[in-house]
Amino acid sequence: MGDKAESTNHPFTVHQEGTKLNPGDEGDPSTPGMAENVCRKCNGTGKIGGVECPICGGTGVVYEEMGGA
Ligand SMILES: [Zn+2]
Repeated sequence: MGDKAESTNHPFTVHQEGTKLNPGDEGDPSTPGMAENVCRKCNGTGKIGGVECPICGGTGVVYEEMGGA
């Protein structure tokens, strides 16, 4: 049927299941204390100089450990 979902043009990838971590992630998102933060390297754009940010994998967000002061 013509049940084609809308094309994936969204700038932000929907949260994906799995444990694929990016270099900027400090731990698995499912780990208690982990919080989603804007990637400081690309400021959440997911790109640096027109190329995919290697830190956040182009997602614009990284998972960092919360807590502490
Ligand atoms: Zn980034």
